[in-house]
Amino acid sequence: MAIERTFSILKPDATARNLTGAINALIEQAGLRIVAQKRIRMTRDQAETFYAVHKARPFFGELVDFMVSGPVVVQVLEGEGAVLKYRDVMGATDPSKAADGTIRKAHAQSIGENSVHGSDAPETGAIEIAQFFSGNEIVG
Ligand code: GDP
Repeated sequence: MAIERTFSILKPDATARNLTGAINALIEQAGLRIVAQKRIRMTRDQAETFYAVHKARPFFGELVDFMVSGPVVVQVLEGEGAVLKYRDVMGATDPSKAADGTIRKAHAQSIGENSVHGSDAPETGAIEIAQFFSGNEIVG
């Protein structure tokens, strides 16, 4: 399988509970390498652009409010089949449906405050990475 990159966000519920290290440990244990990482405060513009695909959904306003409610950690993860591998490590969107051993099973609080984001395909991953990182910030 090819070496890929995927985009990850540790969401405000995770940073608020001091879980950056605990979540990074699960990421690294899965064989993914954190090749870029920074802690930022997302602007409302950035959050609305990032989640534009969900604009028509009833939870869009709540989602944007949540993403700007506190610091987030944005990351680039690299590894074999990184996109699908990270989706597996994250677990289901709704933590009550997430499998044992996943980040969301261990740490997520609700379907909205679910601790992590991961890209759903390599193409979206590339777009999402470019929204937050310039090339020289990614060190593989
Ligand atoms: P993901 O790819 O597993 O993150 O899930 P989606 O792409 O379906 O949704 C994006 C994000 O929107 C999720 O991670 C949640 O933070 C949020 N979200 C999804 N469904 C709901 C919902 O029913 N209510 C709320 N408040 N947020 C939701």
